[in-house]
Amino acid sequence: MTIRNVVGTDREFTIGKIVCLARNYAEHAKELGNETPAAPVLFMKPASSVIGDGDTVRIPAYSQECHYEVELALLIGSQCRGVSAEMAMEHVAGYGVAIDMTLRDVQNQLKAKGLPWEIAKGFDTSCPLSDFVPAAAVADPHALSLKLAVNGETRQDGNSSDMIHRVPQIVAHISAIFTLEPGDVILTGTPAGVGQVLAGDVMTAEIGTIGHLMIPVA
Ligand code: ZN
Repeated sequence: MTIRNVVGTDREFTIGKIVCLARNYAEHAKELGNETPAAPVLFMKPASSVIGDGDTVRIPAYSQECHYEVELALLIGSQCRGVSAEMAMEHVAGYGVAIDMTLRDVQNQLKAKGLPWEIAKGFDTSCPLSDFVPAAAVADPHALSLKLAVNGETRQDGNSSDMIHRVPQIVAHISAIFTLEPGDVILTGTPAGVGQVLAGDVMTAEIGTIGHLMIPVA
């Protein structure tokens, strides 16, 4: 059971399902040779994939190519189902920093066969996740810098202003499919610059004033 706090408040949440967007930044979709989708492309990670700041990502033995993807994470604070974009922000309790660890070789093999991606995306340690800052402390979730460095060298340097689908639309779209509950998390996609990490590397991720992660790889 993974608990995350909302910084500066007495609110804490048990992490539930983690719903993720693929290809939500045009430049990243392009770098992987994917089309930019009209509707959000969704997949999920289990709560058991979450680790915290300072914890270690462990690359499974069945992969030779593990990629980082820094992403803005949304924390759902109250249950919503079929919520409108206008009302969606009422249900966002906070914002955090996540890294969507992805076994790119495994994902590509599964995609080529038309098979589901879960073992490439939801393995143990595949979701480093920070604590959350209260939503009220973030004036505009679409004006945040997203940075990821490997061994101190910048690899991703993007901005949430480049998101294709915006936070209210994302919450509304997902809540029409999956009832969202307190403690659920949404990962909003990654900007360009994704790449490989190897055992022994250390990733640092930072999103605007929201927070940061320092995550070694083994
Ligand atoms: Zn991702």
